[in-house]
Amino acid sequence: MAAEAEKVGEAAANVERFLEYCENLYDLVNEGYFERGLDTVRDFRRHYGLAKFLRFDFFRTMHQAVSAQLTTPHMRQAFDFFIKYVGSSAEDAPAFMNCLPTIQFRYDLWYVDGGMYNIAKGLGRLMDELGIRVHLDCEVSEIRKSGARVEGVVAGGVFHPADIVVSNMEVIPAYRELLGEDAAFLRTLEKFEPACSGLVIDLGIKGSYPALAHHNFFYSGSPKEHFDAVFRKKELSSDPTIYLVAPCVTDPSAAPAGCSVLKILPHIPHIRDEKPYTKADYTAFRDVVLAKLERMGLDGLRSRIVTEDVLTPDDIKAMYYSNKGSIYGVVSDRKLNGAFRAPKRSSRYSNLFFVGGSVNPGAGMPMVALSGMLACDMLTGAIGGRK
Ligand SMILES: Cc1cc2nc3c(=O)[nH]c(=O)nc-3n(C[C@H](O)[C@H](O)[C@H](O)COP(=O)(O)OP(=O)(O)OC[C@H]3O[C@@H](n4cnc5c(N)ncnc54)[C@H](O)[C@@H]3O)c2cc1C
Repeated sequence: MAAEAEKVGEAAANVERFLEYCENLYDLVNEGYFERGLDTVRDFRRHYGLAKFLRFDFFRTMHQAVSAQLTTPHMRQAFDFFIKYVGSSAEDAPAFMNCLPTIQFRYDLWYVDGGMYNIAKGLGRLMDELGIRVHLDCEVSEIRKSGARVEGVVAGGVFHPADIVVSNMEVIPAYRELLGEDAAFLRTLEKFEPACSGLVIDLGIKGSYPALAHHNFFYSGSPKEHFDAVFRKKELSSDPTIYLVAPCVTDPSAAPAGCSVLKILPHIPHIRDEKPYTKADYTAFRDVVLAKLERMGLDGLRSRIVTEDVLTPDDIKAMYYSNKGSIYGVVSDRKLNGAFRAPKRSSRYSNLFFVGGSVNPGAGMPMVALSGMLACDMLTGAIGGRK
C-alpha cells in the first residue's frame, strides 16, 4: 500500500497514519455497534459514555477526514470511495465511516466458488438439515396486527399465525405495504432515506481484458460532481465512477472457453418521486458508461458483447421491493440520520423484528448476515423476557 501510495506522490507515512485512524474507528464501532447491535444514538451514549462517544469524529464528514490526512487526489478518491459499500456519499457520510477500509484490509475480499447464488443454496441445505420449511414463490401480502402486537402473516393468500414475525422486506415498504401504517407514522421514517441504486450491466464478451483485476474501479474525473449528482441532485452523473467485476480472473469457469463475463455497476440515484428517469434515459446512460470504459482501456468493448442483461432501478424495485430501487438499504448521512439505519425491533409492535440492509448495522452481505444474528439475539431475549 505504501509503495502504491508513493507512485501517486502520497507520502507513505500519511497513509500509515490514516490507516491507523481507520483501525481505531473500526475497533470503536465494532465493540458496540456491530457486536452489541446498538440501534440508536441513545444506545450509543449509554454504551460508549461521553469520552468514547467523542472519539467517533462526529463533527466531520468522511471526505473532510480523508482530505485532512491525505494530500493527493488519487489517494483521496480511492479512500472516499470505500463509501460505495453502503451506497452513500463521502461528502455527506460521517467521518466514522472511515472504518470501512479496515474491514476490507483486516478481513479481505471473498469470492464464493461458483458465484454468490451458492450462498443461497448453502443456506437452503442448512435449513433442510434443521427441518426449517421454506415456502418459495410465496409473497407475503400482509402482516396482521392487533394493538401493539402482530399476529402473523398472510402469504400466498393463507394466514400463518406467529408469535414473532421477522421481516426481510425493507422497513419502509413493510410498514407501508404490509402493515398499512398511516402517513404520520411513515413521515417519522423519512430520515431513513434510501441509499443509491445502480444500473447493473452484466455482459458476456468474446475474449478478456488481461489488464483487469477481479475488482476494478474506473474513477470519475470529478468525484465531487459525481457524488453531488447521485446523492444531492438525484441525477445521472455525466462522468460516473464505475465498479467493474471480472470474476473470470479468479474463476475461469464463470464463462465458456474463449469468453469472459463482466459485471458493471455505476451508482445512480434511487427512483425520484418527481420526473423519474425512463427506460430510454437509462439506455442512454448505459452508452455513457460503456463509452467511458472503452476510453479508459477496454478497447472495442461494445463490439465484443455476446450477451447482455441490464437491471434498472425500476427492475430492482419490482424484483426485490426495495425502497425506490435502493441497492444498499438506507443512505448513511451525517445530518439526516447520523448513519443510523432503522432499529431491528419495531417501535410500534413489540413482537415484530426487521433484518437486512435497511436496519443496523446495514447493507452488504456480511452486515446483512450480522443484522440477522443480532435480531436473533434480541428476539430470543424477548421470548426469555416474556416467560
Ligand atoms: C449488483 C450488486 C452487487 C453487489 N455486490 C455485493 C458484494 O460484492 N458484496 C456484498 O457484500 N454486497 C453486495 N451487494 C449488496 C447486497 O446484495 C445487499 O446489501 C444485500 O443483498 C441486501 O440484503 P437484504 O436481505 O437486505 O435484501 P435482499 O437481498 O434484497 O433480500 C430481500 C428478499 O426479500 C424478498 N421480499 C421482499 N418483500 C417480500 C414480500 N413481501 N414477500 C416475499 N418476499 C419478499 C425479496 O424478493 C428479496 O429476495 C451488491 C448489490 C448489487 C445490486
